[in-house]
Amino acid sequence: NTATGMMSLIFIVIVMNTDLTVRRSLEIDMRKAIQDGDFQLHYQPQIGEEGQIVGAEALIRWRHPRTGNIPPADFIPLAEETGLIVPIGNWVLRAACAQLALWETQPETRHLTMSVNVSASQFRQPDFVQSVTEIVRLSGITPSRLKLELTESMFVDNVESTTAKMNALKAIGIVWSLDDFGTGYSSLSVLHRFPLGQIKIDKAFVRDMLTNSSNMVVTEAIIALAANLNLQVIAEGVETVAQLNRLREAGCLAYQGYLFSPPVDIEAFTKLLAPEAAS
Ligand code: C2E
Ligand code: CA
Ligand code: CA
Ligand code: CA
Repeated sequence: NTATGMMSLIFIVIVMNTDLTVRRSLEIDMRKAIQDGDFQLHYQPQIGEEGQIVGAEALIRWRHPRTGNIPPADFIPLAEETGLIVPIGNWVLRAACAQLALWETQPETRHLTMSVNVSASQFRQPDFVQSVTEIVRLSGITPSRLKLELTESMFVDNVESTTAKMNALKAIGIVWSLDDFGTGYSSLSVLHRFPLGQIKIDKAFVRDMLTNSSNMVVTEAIIALAANLNLQVIAEGVETVAQLNRLREAGCLAYQGYLFSPPVDIEAFTKLLAPEAAS
């Protein structure tokens, strides 16, 4: 009847408004978080053939003063919608490059690479190339130790401008890495059409590899294809020794995942680099 209809309508409106209020206050807090220093980078080691740490992926963490830690999946999408991803993304890049510059000053860490996530709307900014170039230049790092991670969704619109931006940063030495590979809708042609240096096998494939034979076949095909196209390949989400062994047999020689370490703060990462010195 009409009364219950009205009631549920009112209810829906209240729920929607609450959601809007939450999003609105999250947005306000996000603006403050940069100034207040509430964002932090964690680093997840990337492991090479001999089990050594070859680099790190920088992953943002938000220590919210009232609600505690907020995972990136809960604020990056809103940051993208509101455009706040631009200042946040620049902060991430600056902080990651500053860390990389520090590593370059020490003989034990100067070989390490740094991977940084770039979101679609950040990449789409007209001055993206310029701001990355500027941040890299000011940090003094060797650009070839910096990897920028993109997802397949960025290859769907405007192939020309995407390629131009990627080429411009590749020209100064930056390496492009294709994140979450295999989960998107783009065709395999992105692998040779865009100036990529690395692909990351998505953790969904690694997770189901040993229980789902078609996932194993796809994983093996990706590794073989990467080798043929001279692309580095790294598997993410490696959690078990069985997965590691299977990936190694398939020819994948770089790994990231909880088996080695979750993303950790810089103090803990430094201990991972030199466990004997730290204990
Ligand atoms: P991603 O780029 O695919 O990052 C990998 C995610 O997998 C990270 O989650 C990491 O903690 C998690 N992970 C690592 N090893 C394992 C494993 O063995 N098993 C499982 N199940 N998960 C593993 P996190 O840090 O919560 O980040 C989630 C997503 O948020 C990232 O996915 C990325 O898309 C986004 N993100 C994180 N930091 C940034 C950033 O600085 N900028 C942008 N634009 N996006 C970011
Ligand atoms: Ca990533
Ligand atoms: Ca990923
Ligand atoms: Ca992702």
